[in-house]
Amino acid sequence: MYDIQEIRKDFPILGREVYGRPLVYLDNGATTQKPRCVVEAMTDEYYNVNANVHRGVHFLSQQATELHEAARETVRRFLNARSPAEIVFTRGTTESINLVASCFGEAFMREGDEVILSEMEHHSNIVSWQLLQARRGIKLRVVPINDRGELVLDEYEQLFNDRTRIVSVTHVSNVLGTVNPIRRMIETAHAHGVPVLVDGAQSTPHFAVDVQSLDCDFFAFSGHKIYGPTGVGVLYGKETWLDRLPPYMGGGEMIRHVTFERTTFNELPFKFEAGTPDYVATTGLARALDYVSALGMDSIYAHEQELARYALERMRRIPGMRILGEAGERDAVISFLVGDIHHLDMGTLLDRLGIAVRTGHHCAEPLMRRLGVEGTVRVSFGLYNTLEEVDALAEGIERVAKMF
Ligand code: PMP
Repeated sequence: MYDIQEIRKDFPILGREVYGRPLVYLDNGATTQKPRCVVEAMTDEYYNVNANVHRGVHFLSQQATELHEAARETVRRFLNARSPAEIVFTRGTTESINLVASCFGEAFMREGDEVILSEMEHHSNIVSWQLLQARRGIKLRVVPINDRGELVLDEYEQLFNDRTRIVSVTHVSNVLGTVNPIRRMIETAHAHGVPVLVDGAQSTPHFAVDVQSLDCDFFAFSGHKIYGPTGVGVLYGKETWLDRLPPYMGGGEMIRHVTFERTTFNELPFKFEAGTPDYVATTGLARALDYVSALGMDSIYAHEQELARYALERMRRIPGMRILGEAGERDAVISFLVGDIHHLDMGTLLDRLGIAVRTGHHCAEPLMRRLGVEGTVRVSFGLYNTLEEVDALAEGIERVAKMF
C-alpha cells in the first residue's frame, strides 16, 4: 500500500513553509528532495567510516571500499546490468554523456561520420557532440518531433546511412514528458549495426529500467534526480563497448602501471574512474535506489501517472491554458503557458503561493524554437506529491491568471 502521508515523513524538507505557506515542491525534474535514510547513510559514513577507497590496507579504507563497491552492485541490480564492470560512476548524466561522446568519438568517429540526436534533447546531449564536432568534423543529424511532441520515427529511420556511427537520444523529454519508443529505436539502430546511448536522466526516477531488456549500449542517469545526492551519476555501458573505448581522464585509480614511457590501464570499470571517487555520494545513491526499490518503481509510476492525469484534467479547464506536448505516452512532467502571461511571471507568482515550479528554456533551446516559444512553466512530479498539491497548483494558476 502506497501510504503517501507516511512517505512524506521520510522527507523533512516537505514540512517547510515558504512565504508563510506550506511548500508545494513541483520541480522534481530539476532535482528531487532526499529521504532521511540517504542523508543519514552519508552522515554516518563521514562520522564513522571515512577513508579513501581501493588503495588502503587499513580497516577503514577496506570498509569504505566495501560500501563503495556494494553501491556499484546496487546500481547494477537497479538497472539489471550483467556485471558491475559495466557500471561507471560519474558526476551525473552530463559527465556520462560527455564521456561517451569523447571516448566513442575518439575511437570510432572520423570526419564526416554522423551521430543521430533528437529535437527534444537536453543541451548536455547536444553540446557534448558539438565539442566533438569541433575536434573531429562529425555531423549531427536530428530526428524531428511532430506537433504532439513525439519523435517522427519514419524520419528517424531515414537518417541512417553508411556514415552513422551512434544514436544518442533521451528516454523521456524533460520538457514535454514524452516517453520515447526507445526499444523500437534501439532495434532500428541495431538493424543498421549502430549502438545507442540513452539519456535516462528523466526516466530512471519514474519507472523501472532494464538495460538488458532495452538492449541499449550505453545508459546515463543522475543520482540527484532519483532522490540521491548531487555530484554522483552513472554511465552503464556494455562491457564489449567499454572495453573498446580509450580512457576519459588520466590519473590515479584508472591505471595498472605507469612509467614515463608507457602506462597500462586498469580493468573495467576503473579505467573510466580517474581520481578519488565521491565514495560517500555513491553510498547515498545506493540508499536512494534501495528506497525507491522498496516502494516499488511500479507503485511510484502508478502514483505519478495518477497525479499527471489529474493535473492535466484540472489544468485543461483553466481558460487560456496551453499544454505543450500531447504525447500518447507521457511521464509526470507538464509544460504550460497561460494566455500571454510570461513564464517567469507565472513562476514568480506561484512561488509567492509556496509552489515551486521551473520556468525558462529547461536547457532545451532547440526544442523551444521548434515549439515557437521562448520558455515554458514546467511542473514535474515526484513520488511524494499529492492530489491536494495538484489542487493547490491549479488554484494557484487560476489566481495568477486573474491578476493579468
Ligand atoms: N538530460 C536530461 C533529459 C535532463 O533532464 C538533465 C537534467 N535537467 C540532464 C540530462 C543533465 O543532468 P545533470 O545536470 O544531472 O548532469
